Amino acid sequence: METVAVTVSETNCVPIEKSDSDVLNSNNLTSNAENVASKADSTSEVKKSKNQMKREAKNAKRLENKAERRAIEREKNKIKRAKRRLEDPSIDSLHSLRKKLKDSTMANSNCHVGLVIDLSFDDLMDEKSMASCVKQILRCYSINRRAANPVQFYVTGLSGKSLTEMSKHNGYMNWDVNFHKEQFLDVLDKEKVVYLTSDSENIIENFDDGKFYVIGGLVDHNHNKGLCHKQAVERGLNHGRLPIDEYICLKTRKVLTIDHVFNIAVNVCNGQSWKDAFMSILPTRKGATELSSEVEVPEISSDIETSESIPLE
Ligand code: SAH
Repeated sequence: METVAVTVSETNCVPIEKSDSDVLNSNNLTSNAENVASKADSTSEVKKSKNQMKREAKNAKRLENKAERRAIEREKNKIKRAKRRLEDPSIDSLHSLRKKLKDSTMANSNCHVGLVIDLSFDDLMDEKSMASCVKQILRCYSINRRAANPVQFYVTGLSGKSLTEMSKHNGYMNWDVNFHKEQFLDVLDKEKVVYLTSDSENIIENFDDGKFYVIGGLVDHNHNKGLCHKQAVERGLNHGRLPIDEYICLKTRKVLTIDHVFNIAVNVCNGQSWKDAFMSILPTRKGATELSSEVEVPEISSDIETSESIPLE
């Protein structure tokens, strides 16, 4: 056995052990000139390897120090945190609140109401509207994550344009959401579906456990007036509208954004009254006032398709 210097292409490799016969064979194939060149190369390679080894040893030492430094820092932080906790016990409740948030998943929730966003309207939206639609879905996710009892959240028909837009948000597939590329009627029991639409003559009084309330994933500045209602009737689906007029006085049109409908539903499912849910979620520019109130709010004619921003996780 003989150790042969590495070739140029193996610069970063450890010299390989080759058998005598291998050496003979390779020697037979190279000319004298090539042998000289390869000898020169091999000397520089050996030197390089030594340098490399030095560099590696140095790096290893640095990493070791870094690990040590980190361990010291961690200990210091532990002491700091303990001190802070002694000074301000409310920090503990903040931690437990954060932990509670982590634990409040759909699976652990006491709420078995399904809220579904139906993404079957991609062809009716340009790029900007599609992006706005997906942003509203992100807000819905954020709202549900913060709820004491999250609803059973579904997004159906996630394919094509909506999937491309959703894919811009890293890791969305790991969120606590039931994503389906199929349409909602392919994954849910039709009898349990209630399509939400402001044009329905039926009024939603409660959200029932075991039912799936579908919100149209459509941002269209009301260009397609009455579309969701028409589709629900054609498909023979149950449908209903939110009881806006029954609880508050809204000076603008009654078509709300996807995330506002979602937020109101989540809050009502979590025990808030309809009135409080409407009053707290609808932005003041929508002109929401209590039914008994005499305050005049000027009518706003522009269609509202954007909603207040809710910080995401
Ligand atoms: N131009 C569409 C409305 C899109 S608004 C249409 O006329 O059908 C997006 C979705 O929010 C609707 O599909 C509906 O599911 C829901 N929504 C908005 N306002 C609502 C209301 N007042 N009651 C029930 N659902 C509502």
